[in-house]
Amino acid sequence: MGNEMRKLQFPWKQKFTISLKVPMVILLVLFGMIPMMVCVKTVISSIEQNQTNARMIEVQNQCQILSSKLSRTGYLRGEVKDGSVDSEISTIADIYNGRIVVVNKDYRIVQDTYDIAKNRLHVAEEVIRCFQGESSSSYNKEKHYFIHTLPIYDGSGEQNIDGVMMSIISTEGILSMVDAVENKASLLQFIVLLLLFIAAAVAVAFLMRPFKEFQGKLNHVADGSLDTDISADTYRETRNISQAVGRTLSKLKEVDQSRQEFVSNVSHELKTPITSIRVLADSLMGMEDVPVELYREFMEDISDEIDRESKIVDDLLALVKMDKSEAELNISQVNINGLVEQTLKRLRPIANKRKVELIFESIREVTGDIDETKLSLVITNLVENAIKYNMEEGWVRVTLDADHKFFYIKVADSGIGIPEEVQERIFDRFFRVDKARSRETGGSGLGLAITRSVVLMHKGAIKLSSKEGEGSVFTIRIPLNYIA
Ligand code: ADP
Repeated sequence: MGNEMRKLQFPWKQKFTISLKVPMVILLVLFGMIPMMVCVKTVISSIEQNQTNARMIEVQNQCQILSSKLSRTGYLRGEVKDGSVDSEISTIADIYNGRIVVVNKDYRIVQDTYDIAKNRLHVAEEVIRCFQGESSSSYNKEKHYFIHTLPIYDGSGEQNIDGVMMSIISTEGILSMVDAVENKASLLQFIVLLLLFIAAAVAVAFLMRPFKEFQGKLNHVADGSLDTDISADTYRETRNISQAVGRTLSKLKEVDQSRQEFVSNVSHELKTPITSIRVLADSLMGMEDVPVELYREFMEDISDEIDRESKIVDDLLALVKMDKSEAELNISQVNINGLVEQTLKRLRPIANKRKVELIFESIREVTGDIDETKLSLVITNLVENAIKYNMEEGWVRVTLDADHKFFYIKVADSGIGIPEEVQERIFDRFFRVDKARSRETGGSGLGLAITRSVVLMHKGAIKLSSKEGEGSVFTIRIPLNYIA
């Protein structure tokens, strides 16, 4: 069922892909077979060579004995009448599967074991050279025979050459023996190939088992058991992969957890004004003969709560829009001094209402590549907070400065400050130091989260330094030139 589901979700998984086992088995079989085939080939050719050499030496010895006998008996001078030597020549020729030819001084053939060239002239090169005292031995590999020539002396002991004995010996017998060995070796090789294939398949299946187990664990995770132990420490490779997947999983879990937190925070935040509205409406309905003033007061409270709800929804939408990766910045060259001045002008009435002095300190003229609307929102959020969380008769100082790379906007206030232990969480969504005060001032708890998103989108940074009871300083740093 799980598998089916996965196939439906990831159709590309159905595409045919070769298993890693196949090249592994092929490689193992090749690594076993190639050396064996080379060995067999070498052994067979050395058997053939050795057999041929041994045969040549044997034939040379036999011919040597025979030639001595021909010398001693005066065969060429016609002193042997009974044909005993002829039959010995024939026997040797038969034993070695060859032909022996005896040539006299006149280059005429006096004996031929094949009986086809008797009395004919035989003036081959080897014969002429042999009459000059040079006996020869040569092997014709293609036609599978060797020729051996030996001088026949006249028996006087003077080394006078009376004739030449030429033996032509076939090596076909050796070749058929080698063929038989080769056939046996091929059969053996085939059996070894089969065994090797089976052994390689078993070995590979065994070696790949940890990967299969790991895959099983991952499937478990994919089926929803995010807490499955996916450690696979059998090999370094499986361990590295499992660690990488583990890291990915914990990131996923973090994302999932923060999503759940976000959803529950959103529900809670949206429910709070609704609950207040309900309580106000219920108490109004529960009373009889409500005076118009009380009625108006309650209706004003209800209206405030509706404003709050609406602000939360607006802020949420703004935040979600910025969280999207495709959120586009509308970058243009803007005079930052003008932008800050304009924004502060809009906020001055609120500051005046709370008797907070709003000061703008412009250290130099700054022009930067920014999204005007979004950066104005950042300044508004920071200055609004500085006014909201301030003391009566307090002050807010906004300073604009720049160097060759960045511009800096510093928003300092003489307000209530932020306790050190919560400073890290101050930019989290819905985080508020004092829920009651924030609610009083109509805060959604999303202002600083939005501020940080905008600053990061501009590839900038935001920093807070604050001391409880003394005030806070928020500093943003944004590159003068925006590089996408
Ligand atoms: P809110 O809408 O509640 O103001 P923000 O995200 O803007 O939400 O701020 C989060 C919390 O940080 C506020 O509730 C407040 O407790 C604290 N805070 C922000 N700015 C200041 C400041 N200048 N001085 C003291 N506290 C501040």
